[in-house]
Amino acid sequence: MSLNVSSIYNKVTSLILDSLRGIVGDSYVLTSVEDLDRYGRDETEDLCFPPEVVVKPQNAREISEILKLCNEYLIPVTPRGGGTGLSGGALPVHGGVLLSLERLNRIIEIDAENLMAVVEPGVVTQTFHEEVEKRGFFYPPDPASRGSCLLGGNVAECAGGPRAVKYGITKDYVYGLEAVLPTGEIVQLGGKLLKNVSGYNVVQLLIGSEGTLAVVTRITVKLLPACGHSGCGTQVG
Ligand SMILES: Cc1cc2nc3c(=O)[nH]c(=O)nc-3n(C[C@H](O)[C@H](O)[C@H](O)COP(=O)(O)OP(=O)(O)OC[C@H]3O[C@@H](n4cnc5c(N)ncnc54)[C@H](O)[C@@H]3O)c2cc1C
Repeated sequence: MSLNVSSIYNKVTSLILDSLRGIVGDSYVLTSVEDLDRYGRDETEDLCFPPEVVVKPQNAREISEILKLCNEYLIPVTPRGGGTGLSGGALPVHGGVLLSLERLNRIIEIDAENLMAVVEPGVVTQTFHEEVEKRGFFYPPDPASRGSCLLGGNVAECAGGPRAVKYGITKDYVYGLEAVLPTGEIVQLGGKLLKNVSGYNVVQLLIGSEGTLAVVTRITVKLLPACGHSGCGTQVG
């Protein structure tokens, strides 16, 4: 006997839409057919699962409010970065809320002394590469979609790329995460620590989890020195 999972969820009502508008503002709640169609697709071939609404929050607090609301009313939520995924992870197969992370797009810190950077998940991967390279650093994970994928999507898919064989993949560079749990709780995991050995490694659990466990709202990554700078052992490109 198969279980129709969609039937356990509730629909997005006009009351829920009003609450979402109250959280993120009218302009960031999209319901037009064109928008629902656009956000119902990623790069997985020929699939379209339109959400009932697209919501574009600006920070972890707003995401927390959205997840609390959806948890209370049993509305499915699908996080989305750049929509370049090839495994269908960003497809809202149960409808509900499509949670776009594109407005969380700040590079918060490039810490030259500790060779670490703190970013939001909506930063385009190529933009981040260019910013760290201007300062003499190198961030290796480089999915071939780097001009349009986002760092949060890279974390959720544990992206690799052409440099993976030599330098490793996203999980080798992520040291800390801030994430919002389905209950709305905001958690801080790991950080700028090389020796972070006790307790469960929840950072690595979230990497590659395709948005099924939590929404990533901040990422701490390790940088390498680029060639031509002291400590260089690496070649950009
Ligand atoms: C032309 C092309 C080339 C590619 N090359 C590569 C490659 O070389 N290597 C490689 O690994 N992949 C590659 N990919 C696949 C894809 O680009 C990567 O998986 C990329 O990391 C997806 O990022 P995105 O921002 O587009 O994520 P999306 O497609 O938007 O989402 C992917 C998954 O991440 C989840 N997610 C997104 N943001 C968050 C967040 N903040 N918190 C929690 N979950 C989140 C979504 O729910 C979904 O499950 C390629 C794709 C294309 C189209």
